[in-house]
Amino acid sequence: MSSIKTVGVIGAGQMGNGIAHVCALAGYEALLNDADPARIEAGLEGIAKNMRRQVGRGLIQQPDMDAGLKRIKAAPKLAAFEACDLVIESIVEDIEAKKKIFADLQAALKPTAILASNTSSISITGLAAKTDRPDKFIGIHFMNPAPVMKLVELIRGLATSQETYDTSVKFVESLGKTIANAEDFPAFIVNRVLVPMINEAVYTLYEGVGSVEAIDKSLKLGANHPMGPLELADFIGLDTCLSIMQVLYEGLADSKYRPCPLLVKYVEAGWLGRKTNRGFYDYRTDPPTPTR
Ligand code: NAD
Repeated sequence: MSSIKTVGVIGAGQMGNGIAHVCALAGYEALLNDADPARIEAGLEGIAKNMRRQVGRGLIQQPDMDAGLKRIKAAPKLAAFEACDLVIESIVEDIEAKKKIFADLQAALKPTAILASNTSSISITGLAAKTDRPDKFIGIHFMNPAPVMKLVELIRGLATSQETYDTSVKFVESLGKTIANAEDFPAFIVNRVLVPMINEAVYTLYEGVGSVEAIDKSLKLGANHPMGPLELADFIGLDTCLSIMQVLYEGLADSKYRPCPLLVKYVEAGWLGRKTNRGFYDYRTDPPTPTR
């Protein structure tokens, strides 16, 4: 294990929960915070459910699960983060919300604590510059679902120190993950490639080239993708996909990244994918029904 003992996770959404889950199973104490206390409770229940599934599949043993769950504590107040050696922010993909949470967090932190963001696309350098410790700030970008996916992107901001990077490498490796280093440019590597493909799939739907079903079937059977792009968009969250496209569009100032108006419309409707039970598919039926 690295010199890190206690990890704080801010944001008890699908990613924050997965990150707390992975940290706890790897032996770290984990604190879970969210602006909405109900999300923390739901998060803890979700983590227990996912660990039970891992036990059922023989991936972990029952004692690992019991010990892991004991290591995760609800932390509705950021003051509890004074115990943390590392804090991983995983709140909504919104630059102003992220800047605010780092500002609010600062007073609670010990001077040596490392700050990380799980952002999918936002500048690590820009977020770091708003804190009192840009040298101790890094991007640690997990993939969804964090307990399952092997890759973690590590993104150094302009001011990230070698020590912060080295400690982060040790930490990520101790979670059993494989690292890809990415430079701090909009959406890094995975989402620079993946999300424009998803956006193009939405354009394909918008322009009537194919139905939801035809588009997903085409990429699954025609390109050997495990999930169709629209199914994947629902899995990621359509709000997150749209935010990433906006960061690419603004950050690279290239019209090829313009978000599809149909993606914007789904987000306006609050049809954000699986997390709201409706996106390109309606998940209230089994099997899910395409919504177009
Ligand atoms: P989500 O919508 O499931 O969860 C976001 C959580 O943040 C919610 O529980 C919300 O209540 C909470 N939140 C919002 N503002 C907050 C605040 N000010 N303080 C504390 N909590 C706050 O989103 P998610 O999919 O878990 O994404 C979270 C982050 O992870 C984003 O930056 C996203 O880009 C990144 N990410 C997402 C994926 C993915 O596939 N969804 C993959 C990798 C990284």
